[in-house]
Amino acid sequence: MIIVLKSNPNPEQYEQLKKWLEDKGLDIHKTQGIHSTILGLVGDTSKVDIDLVSAMEIVDTVKRIQEPYKAANRKFHPLDTEITVENTKIGAGHFAMIAGPCSVETEEQIIGIAKAVKAAGATMLRGGAFKPRTSPYAFQGLGGDGIKLLLEAKKETGLPIVTEIMDLSQLDLFEEVDVIQVGARNMQNFQLLKELGHTKKPILLKRGLSSTIQELLMSAEYIMAGGNEDVILCERGIRTFETATRNTLDISAVPVLKEKTHLPIVIDPSHSTGYSKYVKSMCYASTAAGADGLIIEVHNDPAKAWCDGQQSITPAAFEEINRGVQLIREDVLKL
Ligand code: PEP
Ligand code: MN
Repeated sequence: MIIVLKSNPNPEQYEQLKKWLEDKGLDIHKTQGIHSTILGLVGDTSKVDIDLVSAMEIVDTVKRIQEPYKAANRKFHPLDTEITVENTKIGAGHFAMIAGPCSVETEEQIIGIAKAVKAAGATMLRGGAFKPRTSPYAFQGLGGDGIKLLLEAKKETGLPIVTEIMDLSQLDLFEEVDVIQVGARNMQNFQLLKELGHTKKPILLKRGLSSTIQELLMSAEYIMAGGNEDVILCERGIRTFETATRNTLDISAVPVLKEKTHLPIVIDPSHSTGYSKYVKSMCYASTAAGADGLIIEVHNDPAKAWCDGQQSITPAAFEEINRGVQLIREDVLKL
């Protein structure tokens, strides 16, 4: 971090700032110019509040050289993280195909879809039991019963299950869940992230609707700082002025995240576009961009889905996409 002081800084205020920084264990390298004084800070500056320093009377500008996230930072962990989920892996060359309905509806529905996506190449089963809906009058999910049905589907197919937690009070119900999803609306629920940092389960962390890539990484850092290093990042589209799609899929988030972090990245083409007709092309683009996996909404009868039917694809469409994705990985990416 570099701090540029205003000309002729008040010596008392300078001494106060110096002591404050030294108390944080930082070394200060001072360069005295003609018009300004530059302080180069050496050490772990992740605990320095940049806004607080900027607001100090003697400070002109502050610039961070090192990112404020450490555990998630590729600089300190150059190798890709590989996460094992039951009988499958994601990251470091392992590609995850996570498929299933927006929400768990009935035993017949979830088991039927689980069998169909397994046959079509899925490596994990998704399905919401607790649903974050914009309207309080919309179907809110089956809750704990939904998780029981997902576990039934797992027993039938062997597919590990991914499902969303909305509140800490639900954590006990997630004991047998394989991957806990934190939805876009909860990406900055810091208390939830902290608690999940104390669990031993992989966390699929979705990017917030209006969150930057750095904010996503800081949220991953919350989980990792608690000791849980198994975080899967998910780009699921962000809010822009565009209304032709439900959100705008930020595919460039894949190479950017690949540069900044060692954590695996999956793309959600369903929530990002909002229409089943755009899912295939976004899956191919995401794969070509270097994503580590896809999380796709698949329903046996999209027109009758209780939630997000318009963006759900059929198992047959999923099978075709899976074949295309594998071809891109083998023939184009040579993986
Ligand atoms: C979901 O995956 O079911 C979901 C609600 O997604 P998001 O949090 O990205 O909106
Ligand atoms: Mn959905």
